[in-house]
Amino acid sequence: MKILITGAAGFLGSHLCDFLLAEGHEVVGIDNFLTGDPQNIAHLAGNPNFSFIRHDVSNFIFVAGKIDAVMHFASPASPNKNSPYGYPNLPIQTMKAGALGTHNALGVAKANDAIFLLASTSEIYGDPEEHPQKESYYGHVDPTGPRSMYDEAKRFAEALTMSYHRFHGINTKIVRIFNTYGPRMRLDDGRVIPNFIQQALRQEPLTIYGEGLQTRSFCFVEDLIRGIHKLLLSDTHDPVNIGNPTEMTMIELAEKINSMTKNPAGITHIRNMRLGNDPERRKPDITRAKEILNWQPEFTLERGLSNTIPYFKEKMGL
Ligand code: NAD
Ligand code: UDP
Repeated sequence: MKILITGAAGFLGSHLCDFLLAEGHEVVGIDNFLTGDPQNIAHLAGNPNFSFIRHDVSNFIFVAGKIDAVMHFASPASPNKNSPYGYPNLPIQTMKAGALGTHNALGVAKANDAIFLLASTSEIYGDPEEHPQKESYYGHVDPTGPRSMYDEAKRFAEALTMSYHRFHGINTKIVRIFNTYGPRMRLDDGRVIPNFIQQALRQEPLTIYGEGLQTRSFCFVEDLIRGIHKLLLSDTHDPVNIGNPTEMTMIELAEKINSMTKNPAGITHIRNMRLGNDPERRKPDITRAKEILNWQPEFTLERGLSNTIPYFKEKMGL
């Protein structure tokens, strides 16, 4: 297949490029480097099956030749307001990537009669009142809250995707991605795993926001990409959660990273930077992915972190 990937220079987009090229597909990547890094795809230069277009997907997308699938990943993704790459600091770009970008990417799929896959997010469930989160849960989202530029853009993107499916008959897929980590996350991304790994490698105390009893469930990037590939080739048009259901508190995560890096500095509790804006619990119900895709994660947290820590070490020059 010839597959168009928007957000190709990002963390997930670049891993997707590698995976699909290894499967023998031809890949066209698009990115404007808003939050991505050219280094993530530098190794693909010269690969005859890979081509790249520097472009903002909020504007009309033109790709020469027939496209068989469009995978729309372009969007800022970090909730951290202390990072210049966090979506709270890129609110208009985030809404445009989710709304106009999704519209343009769907337009490419329609013009080519191609499969369309939307990278959606667990954030469409907001601060969930149902636990774990099933795809049937409508969510608990504040439409004008501090995360609304991301949550509502993705909710709109899902609705637009279903409209193209129902009205135009496009073969669409929606993946709801839960917290994913791995090599190629930005050092200044601001999400918890990059922060904790770097603090641990510098032998500093890990900064826990608030009490640290809030939970997340972390998926290693290789598991996620394998699941997304299965979804791309599946028959379903319903949203599918992909993530790792092993839930832990931020204190448990910090202790694991400190023990793996032999960091003697422990943890420190700081004011929760996200007060009123930090989901208390998050864990995917992956029954649908198991049943429809025959997929489940294989990497334990320890194995995933062992594959991630050396990347940060090298990037930090240690
Ligand atoms: P990322 O920031 O590393 O990648 C996003 C890429 O999109 C970047 O390379 C950025 O430059 C590009 N981009 C942004 N706006 C663009 C635009 N207007 N035109 C062209 N390119 C643009 O983030 P990521 O973690 O790889 O996330 C990728 C996708 O997966 C996003 O849609 C995100 O919402 C979704 N997602 C990620 C996670 C996660 O845990 N990483 C969880 C849920 C959903
Ligand atoms: N967090 C933390 N210390 C940090 C960064 C994040 O305790 O240095 C917490 C944050 O409050 C949240 C969790 O870690 O409860 C996951 O945050 P992340 O930014 O990774 O993504 P989110 O799941 O909130 O989108």
